[in-house]
Formats: sequence, structure tokens, C-alpha cells
Amino acid sequence: STILYNDQFMAREQGKVDMEDRGYQFGDGIYEALRVYNGEMFLLDLHMKRLNRSARELRLTLPYDTDHLVENLNKLIKDNEMNDGYVYFQITRGAIARKHRFPEKPISSVLTASVEATTQDEDLYPDGIKASLIDDIRWLRCDIKTLNLLGNVLANQEAFEKGSAEAILHRDGVVTEGSTCNVFIVKDGVLITHPANHFILNGITRLFVLQLAEQLGIPVEERTYTTDELLDADEAFITSTGVRVTPVVQIDEHPVGDGKPGAITSRLLDAFNHEIAQFIAK
Ligand code: PMP
Repeated sequence: STILYNDQFMAREQGKVDMEDRGYQFGDGIYEALRVYNGEMFLLDLHMKRLNRSARELRLTLPYDTDHLVENLNKLIKDNEMNDGYVYFQITRGAIARKHRFPEKPISSVLTASVEATTQDEDLYPDGIKASLIDDIRWLRCDIKTLNLLGNVLANQEAFEKGSAEAILHRDGVVTEGSTCNVFIVKDGVLITHPANHFILNGITRLFVLQLAEQLGIPVEERTYTTDELLDADEAFITSTGVRVTPVVQIDEHPVGDGKPGAITSRLLDAFNHEIAQFIAK
């Protein structure tokens, strides 16, 4: 396959990163992952806006502007003849002798991008998944989409070892988000999700679902909720670029609601799939 390295396209085997790259040594970088339907990136502008925000928060300079990045990513999709799948890209602060503080003189950041082809409905679990509650041990800037994902990796592995598809994270009993997704609950007809502050990544899918909820007239509360409220919820679901809206039907040994995908979850999933069908058709 073809990858993008800064402004160059090359074979995957040709893409080599310096051993003193700050992404490799410190996780000093940012990333985005987008879904491609019918050769087109979905919710592209929101992803680029979040990328620019992440760069600003880490005082990281992109190698070139996002208009040019979008051109390159579109070329990458074409060169790989990919219709359905993902685009992943990351930008590190660059390579230099190891020191924690930023380089005194600016060095060039390093951008790499690759694609992964999938079928159109790969990664979807409309019948729902089991999740496990896991301590959120991450740092306090989870709003920045950085390469530092150890807290997420450890939680995701722990959930996997418990036979779950996802980890739902909580800080002292307050549910934040999943290890790779945002988490919503439904109680008495109200959709509830953690507010977009420094404790969670403001998922593009989260924003899209909040918009769908408004269009469908579903009442929404962006507020914190506890693990007890989660276990007592009528419905629960997760959102991400990969899984769209996926029902959570079991949390550890507790069924959620009646143990089946809930009515509001299903309405949102249907609306989501309808939007994608329209996106593909246009
Ligand atoms: N939270 C975390 C921790 C994530 O890793 C992700 C996926 N990148 C999300 C939420 C969902 O974000 P999005 O909807 O933009 O994929």
C-alpha cells in the first residue's frame, strides 16, 4: 500500500521514522482517524477543526495547512483505490536529541498517514456489546487527541481480558468516556452524556449524535453521571468514528435495561445510518 510521509507518497515499506522522533520517545504528537465511505471522508471539516485545536493546545506547528493536508489525504485514498475504510494520520513535534523541553530552534514536524480498507459495515454491532467498568487513570487533558494513549490501552486490554468489547472509564464513580469512544445513557427518555471538558475527548461522532438527537426532538443533558446511574439506566450506547452508535447491553455482570438495544438508541442508530446513506448517494 501507499502511505503519506510529510509531503511525499511512498510504499508502506519505505516509511521510516527517526529513532529520536519525539512521537516515539515522548508520545509528543497528535492524530486523527476518519471514516471513508465511497471514497469520501465523512465529517471531514469537524476532524480538521479538532486537529487544529489539538495542535494549538500542544503548541505544535503542522508541516502544512489543513487544505493541503486534505488534498494529500484524498490523493492517498485514490492511490490506494479505497472505497470504504479508515484514514489514520499523526503529526509529531519532530526528531532531535532527547530533551523534554521543546527544541530551541524550530524543527520540522513529522506527518505520516495511512489507510485501512474495510467493508462498509465492518466494526458495527447493532445487537450491542458487553462493556466493563474500569478506573480512569489518564491525565487531565483528555480533550487533546494526543498519541499518549497508555491509560486507554491498559483499560482496553483489561476489558478485553474480562470478555468485554469496551472499557467504560470512571473517575471516583463519575463516568467519563470509553477507552476508544464516548458513552451515552438514556433515563426516562432523556439522553445524558458527560460534558465536553478536559476529562473527555469531544468525539466527532458524539457531536454528530447530539445534533441528530436535537433533530429528532430527544431531550439532551450534557452533565456528569455516576456508575450507579449507568447501571440503573434504561439504555446505554457508545459512539465513535468506527462503531457509530453501538448499544451497550451488558456492563460486567449487569444487563442494561432489559438487556436489548433500547428504543432511543435504535432511533439514533437508524438516523445515523440514514445520514451515511445520503452521504454515499450524493
Ligand atoms: N474518546 C476517546 C478516548 C477516543 O479515542 C475516541 C476515538 N478517537 C472517541 C472518544 C470518539 O471520537 P470520534 O467520535 O471522533 O471517533
